[in-house]
Amino acid sequence: MAENKDEVVVIGGGLVGSLAACLLAKRGYKVQLYEKRKDIRKNTLHTGKSINLALSNRARRALKIVDLEEDVLASTVHMKGRYIHEISGNDYFLPYDPVHKQNLYSINRNRLNSLLLTASEDKFNAEIFFEYELVNADLKKGILRFRNLQSHEIIEKTSKLIIGADGAHSSLRNVIQQQQRFSFSQKYIEHGYVELIIKPNKGKLLDMNAFHLWPRRTFLMIAIPNPDSSFTVTLFMSFDKFEKLHNSKLYLEFFEENFPDAINLLGINQIIEELPLKKPRYLVSIYCYPYHFEDKFVLIGDAAHAMVPFYGQGMNAGFEDCTILNQLLDLYNDDFAKVIENFTKVRNEDARSICDLAMYNYKEMSNYTLNKSFRLRKSLDEF
Ligand code: FAD
Repeated sequence: MAENKDEVVVIGGGLVGSLAACLLAKRGYKVQLYEKRKDIRKNTLHTGKSINLALSNRARRALKIVDLEEDVLASTVHMKGRYIHEISGNDYFLPYDPVHKQNLYSINRNRLNSLLLTASEDKFNAEIFFEYELVNADLKKGILRFRNLQSHEIIEKTSKLIIGADGAHSSLRNVIQQQQRFSFSQKYIEHGYVELIIKPNKGKLLDMNAFHLWPRRTFLMIAIPNPDSSFTVTLFMSFDKFEKLHNSKLYLEFFEENFPDAINLLGINQIIEELPLKKPRYLVSIYCYPYHFEDKFVLIGDAAHAMVPFYGQGMNAGFEDCTILNQLLDLYNDDFAKVIENFTKVRNEDARSICDLAMYNYKEMSNYTLNKSFRLRKSLDEF
């Protein structure tokens, strides 16, 4: 670890903020991380977005910088390709990258977040303040105001570099948005999602080392493996369709018609008792420009470029932001003003493209996978 440099503040201790804290603390900065939630390591209840995530090479590169790649990979399940489940009950496997062998790895969100938070504290000496919510900021004076959610006291904080990693509904971005010439747009898609679980005894019926996909044109279901042989299942469907399926009988008929092979995997009780009670969650895509404000504030991760999950790259792209920040800190000798200005320059267009690709894959996975995967399967067979 390098020796004491300046103090930096990271807002948000989710996946990207906790990795940024590791990286900056490893460079020798005195890192203070402020997170509005309670410490997830003390709270076993899952709250928030998807239970598990597909981690790709983008993320591995960032984890390597903080020497955490091996620790993280030890908690993953290797996914070598996609299993497509047709409505007829046929299924077949499509390898991800037979040429370069770049595979995906499934990891539990809380496990990964906990690992990064612990590393930031124990390995790199970052300081974490849980239950502190950024409520506003004076950008010109460089002052952040956090509310302690226990005592309701407001504290003020200033720092040479302030990183907003506070997610799709970023409070820091909301403040920056009030400034002139800041562009922002968001799009909620018509699809929402609910999560289900295939228990380990049934999970053993599926190939563990694959991402499973049931494409059905206007909706789709996926299943991602967990190390205990269970699978996290996500059903993506329009909010209208969810609303129409408002009771157990309708849900069962829907599964019989569209996912007959999944009834045994999920268990009939989950479909008729639990599914009708679940409230679908929304999906949003966010574009903004620039990612920085003057010489002090910068947005990374979902705060800068939240995307729909159909390309499985939201976290991976957020981790790549950390890799790029690290490269720019090297390149500009830790001159923050140059680093964050160039972060916008080198990152904005690429991140926009990943958001676009994710939106495209939303259509691809539900509408076209059937046709395209069939063609690809044929060509692989022929190969
Ligand atoms: P977040 O995870 O949202 O973390 C932000 C943190 O900031 C939170 O801890 C929050 O409590 C805190 N915070 C918010 N406001 C404040 C405030 N005012 N003050 C202090 N703290 C604050 N990505 C992949 O790469 N692969 C996948 O397979 C994948 N699957 C997904 C499946 C689904 C269903 C969804 C919805 C997303 C998926 N993603 C996936 C995307 C991924 O979840 C996000 O890109 C990732 O969580 C972004 O991390 P983040 O740290 O930027 O934001």
